[in-house]
Amino acid sequence: MTTGFDVINPATEEIVETVRLTSAEETDAAIERAHAAWPAWRALAPADRARLLRRFASAVDADIENLAQLEVRNAGHTIGNARWEAGNVRDVIQYYSAAPERLFGRQIPVPGGVNMTFAEPLGVVGVIVPWNFPMPIAGWGFAPALAAGNTVVLKPAELTPLTAIRIGELARDAGIPEDVFQILPGKGSVVGQRFVEHPLVRKIVFTGSTEVGKQIMAGCARQVKRVTLELGGKNANIVFADADLEKAAATAPYGVFDNAGQDCCARSRILVQRSAYDRFMELLEPAVQGVVVGDPSSDATEMGPLISAAHRSSVASYVPSDAPVAFRGSAPSGPGFWFPPTVLAPVSPSDRAVTEEVFGPVVAVLPFDDEEEALRLANDTEYGLSGSIWTRDVGRALRVSRGVEAGNLSVNSHSSVRYWTPFGGFKQSGLGRELGPDAVAAFTETKNVFIAND
Ligand code: NAD
Repeated sequence: MTTGFDVINPATEEIVETVRLTSAEETDAAIERAHAAWPAWRALAPADRARLLRRFASAVDADIENLAQLEVRNAGHTIGNARWEAGNVRDVIQYYSAAPERLFGRQIPVPGGVNMTFAEPLGVVGVIVPWNFPMPIAGWGFAPALAAGNTVVLKPAELTPLTAIRIGELARDAGIPEDVFQILPGKGSVVGQRFVEHPLVRKIVFTGSTEVGKQIMAGCARQVKRVTLELGGKNANIVFADADLEKAAATAPYGVFDNAGQDCCARSRILVQRSAYDRFMELLEPAVQGVVVGDPSSDATEMGPLISAAHRSSVASYVPSDAPVAFRGSAPSGPGFWFPPTVLAPVSPSDRAVTEEVFGPVVAVLPFDDEEEALRLANDTEYGLSGSIWTRDVGRALRVSRGVEAGNLSVNSHSSVRYWTPFGGFKQSGLGRELGPDAVAAFTETKNVFIAND
């Protein structure tokens, strides 16, 4: 049965559009078309595939403002963030457009002949995207997959399908054949499930919750299907007493409240060395109160609403009436799924807000005494995605960076994502890496061929 899904503007609660959901039968048909389109796509001369991808990047570039405005309406992202996100899609396609002409194999010295390796595409790749960063996360999957010569079926999250649908149109306008890159809006339990079950899908790229990621991995195991998982995070922002405390405090809110905290890389635990704790909190309070929360379409806004009413209830459950709220920022009243930036302290290390991924604008601040305790607290989680270290001591920066069990760390900064560098999680934050120079390898199989001399 095919139904429609009302896409809601989270800042106004108005219906933006009703999107038709893809059925299981339609998903199977799309996968079969993607499979049929694969031989021609992989056989395309590398320079031609590269040229099509560059045209696709140009089409995205020409549509950045439209894509950004769509994301503001669909996901409540601030317009500044949404422009960056659309630009990231362009940059990632552009970056991987260099790959078709550089898919090198190796010639390995062996006795009796010549040995070479080929990087062969996998076939149909299924990309499953969450609602928190609909554009970039789609691009990180489809761009290297297409560049390596695979065809792609992509399922956006139910709540946020609009930019993915538009990106699919831009691909077609740029000349990418329709069946090479298909967008299938629909439910995880229908479309996503068929990606996992259908034998012609050779790889799943999944970004979402750790809970669903485990189900996907178990489902893929039945067919030894390749899988990349980008899952949750409970990331630590570690502030040592020797840090530039003014800068650490001024930036800490943006390290966790960006995208209203709906960010797998959100630094939702701030660990502060005890001797600097009081001063840090004094500096943090005005910084949190200074976060501009409101209409996401305004250039001045720094934080928009949460994605849905249900998600707001989930976030609110981490701040019950007796929660140790140290201070809060502001949030509009009236329509929209608003939640103010909230700082919890003092808070027990076993509090849910400290141990679970809140995925909202709530941060817990905990003190520590020395490097050893900072590392113990930072690593006291099954997640391991990102984190920040604030110190002026280079040796300490290195020691702590090596000690934190997470895939993406930044020193004196909260930057996690740069498309030139690998991104992904330790422990239950994921499996595999996206972005960076090696991402294409995750969309190919190595084939070894030996040719005898005689
Ligand atoms: P989710 O797991 O509920 O859904 C993610 C996607 O999976 C959606 O498209 C959904 O429709 C689909 N899905 C759901 N059930 C499925 C099933 N049984 N089979 C196949 N597909 C299914 O996650 P969400 O709430 O959309 O996103 C938030 C989560 O994503 C957070 O935990 C966040 O940390 C994580 N995330 C991780 C990264 C990263 O790079 N590590 C990036 C962004 C978000």
